[in-house]
Amino acid sequence: MSNIKTLASCIFCKIVKGEIPSFKLMETDSILAFMDIGPIARGHCLVIPKYHAEKLADLPEDQMADILPALAKIAKAAGNEDYNILQNNGRPAHQQVDHVHFHYIPKPSADDKEGLGVGWPAQNLSMDEIKKIYEEVKGKLE
Ligand code: AMP
Ligand code: ZN
Repeated sequence: MSNIKTLASCIFCKIVKGEIPSFKLMETDSILAFMDIGPIARGHCLVIPKYHAEKLADLPEDQMADILPALAKIAKAAGNEDYNILQNNGRPAHQQVDHVHFHYIPKPSADDKEGLGVGWPAQNLSMDEIKKIYEEVKGKLE
């Protein structure tokens, strides 16, 4: 766990340090995968960086490399045909645990009985409005 920042009061850091139990699925030097104990579908699990960062943009790039491969490995092994990968940042965006985490959520059927339900409030923006926003974002990336 060299280079790994942890926060004593964080529940996921406690899982990383083995201070509270988890149903551990996978581990590398930089990530941990374990079952979600409040699942919205059978097989719902989480992949987290061991490094404590509140939101994705706070996570150092060198702590990111194992996350997507772990999610893909879980998806292949679990064998669910349909699933969502979800990563929430901030309370309005449904983040409850302030340690970066990626949800793997099987979607066994199209109804809302199990798995993720997604609201998709399409904003009906004109191409001019999209272009203006594009220029703002692109400018910030440069
Ligand atoms: P989010 O709303 O994206 O912050 O999701 C946090 C997730 O962490 C929820 O799905 C919780 O059920 C899950 N969770 C909270 N505490 C634990 C824990 N001790 N072990 C496993 N999962 C947890
Ligand atoms: Zn943490």
